Amino acid sequence: MRMSIFEYAPAPESRDVVSIAPTYDHFIGGKFMASKSGKRFATINPATEEVLSKVALGNAADIDAAVKAARSAYTKVWSKMPAKERGKYLYRIARLMQERAREFAVLETLDNGKPIRETRDTDVPLAIQHFFYHAGWADKLEYAGLGENPQPHGVAGQIIPWNFPLLMLAWKVAPALATGNTVVLKPAETTPLTALLFAQVCIDAGLPAGVVNIVTGDGKTGAALVSHPGIDKIAFTGSTEVGKSIARALSGTDKALSLELGGKGANIVYEDAPLDQAVDGIVNGIFFNQGHVCCAGSRLLVQESIHDLLIEKLQRRMEQIRIGDPMDKNTDLGAINSKAQLEKIEELTQAGRDEGAKPWQPSCSLPGNGFWFRPTIFTNVSGAHRIAREEIFGPVLAVLTFRTPAEAIAKANNTPYGLSAGVWTEKGSRILWTAKRLKAGVIWANTFNKFDAASPFGGYKESGWGREGGRHGLLPYIRHAISRETTKSGKGGKR
Ligand code: NAP
Ligand code: MG
Repeated sequence: MRMSIFEYAPAPESRDVVSIAPTYDHFIGGKFMASKSGKRFATINPATEEVLSKVALGNAADIDAAVKAARSAYTKVWSKMPAKERGKYLYRIARLMQERAREFAVLETLDNGKPIRETRDTDVPLAIQHFFYHAGWADKLEYAGLGENPQPHGVAGQIIPWNFPLLMLAWKVAPALATGNTVVLKPAETTPLTALLFAQVCIDAGLPAGVVNIVTGDGKTGAALVSHPGIDKIAFTGSTEVGKSIARALSGTDKALSLELGGKGANIVYEDAPLDQAVDGIVNGIFFNQGHVCCAGSRLLVQESIHDLLIEKLQRRMEQIRIGDPMDKNTDLGAINSKAQLEKIEELTQAGRDEGAKPWQPSCSLPGNGFWFRPTIFTNVSGAHRIAREEIFGPVLAVLTFRTPAEAIAKANNTPYGLSAGVWTEKGSRILWTAKRLKAGVIWANTFNKFDAASPFGGYKESGWGREGGRHGLLPYIRHAISRETTKSGKGGKR
């Protein structure tokens, strides 16, 4: 039974704003081109299992054509263009995306399963902001502390995941173009559609042919991009497992590499924290985007004295979470992106049960079709449990306790990852004390999951190499750049 005092009338966003073609081709050399193999794969709406479109399945020959187009655009046009002209294209792309923002949001929600409230208010505005921000850098690189006369690598191969498809495209394409590289991008298999709409934006912006190329496909398509000898730099966002395999494949070559990988973020709540705010931050930290967030606050570390009260408040708040049709403007939690991801979440939550942790879920009902998982919290979790160690990448929170600040730090850092962390306390000095000791690339204080194009994002340890966003995010796209900040942590933007 729902404890909600409010019942909402349906508020569906219209899908009329998008027109989805029955088939899509690769975007190579400024044109849409069929796959050399003639093969296609289906992309579905994970909330309904409806097939949205059949998309070209890229192979090594398609990658080769795209790399050649990118090389030709680099040598003949892009590397010769004055930087301020390059910047104008980025501004133009940003403005065209703004004009089509609603279309991008609806298409992303249909293809990915995430709520329209999030695509409309987070994914799409942040993607646009990324292009505006980097448009400003294009003609100011020599003032960015990257050394004199910073030079691009040339052709960048970029591989992105399905959790923030358009936003990850923006994080990759905007800095690459601003620094003077051309790109070949491989979107994730389950979410290629907004990248293909972005291809149309590139055409409409008059971007010279071959500066941006998009080859759709699966993991093998990504692997073909990594191993292509004509690529100067690889930028990858995805799982740590695939990231490691890419690092192995590139060792011994002169290709540059940046990696944005997984995480198991600790969200630390001290006993003096404003608890109601913390509860909202915990919900945002783990249930935003169905928990398909690399920097999710997936481990809640609560000071023992407030554990029971906090869990009671959290459960009451979770009863208010609205799960269902992602196109409804009142939906908080949408569909799990794929059957495979749902199975991974189910496997890990079963492991949580088997190892003795105590699960709790709100009493919401789930739609019949599509891939769904109830928001879940586990208490009685020990640091040895799989749910405390492995990235679940779903709406599942592992709750652990601590008694002293030192214990909180030890537990928070007890992970091979180091992407994000959160601290909740009313004392500024405790925030600083804690943040100084946490091994995480991004640390939020009394908030969570806040992003800005001007703020660098990236991880320690197995969470990745290099940064995206801000001045630091330009480094991985510059040849021979050295930064004190990044070399200090041992992981430069360039290997
Ligand atoms: P994934 O399996 O590693 O896939 C990421 C991308 O790599 C997809 O485009 C995938 O294609 C492609 N790929 C798969 N195998 C490949 C190979 N052998 N060589 C080259 N490319 C290959 O990861 P995912 O499950 O889609 O994404 C979730 C992971 O991404 C999580 O671990 C999450 O933490 C991480 N992530 C990190 C960040 C960050 O900024 N640090 C941001 C978002 C996500 P297919 O889709 O066709 O398999
Ligand atoms: Mg899809």
